[in-house]
Amino acid sequence: MSNTHRFTPRLTNGRRLECLLSDNDNRRIKRGDWQATVTDLNTGLQLNVEGADCNLPGCKCDAVVINTDDYIKHERGKHD
Ligand SMILES: [Zn+2]
Repeated sequence: MSNTHRFTPRLTNGRRLECLLSDNDNRRIKRGDWQATVTDLNTGLQLNVEGADCNLPGCKCDAVVINTDDYIKHERGKHD
């Protein structure tokens, strides 16, 4: 079995996710200006992510989920 990697991007509403990525998807995560589509192994959802500012001025080592709505819909579904 291949390794999995913890990935904690922010949603556009500021909340942070706890995701799990495959080796392949983890290689798509970069720093600076980048964009990628990865699959969160915890939920099976596809995430469109891009580089984002962290708390340090001029540093873009964070990641933000562009399709936040998909995640929120998924969570709503769990509670219905
Ligand atoms: Zn940073």
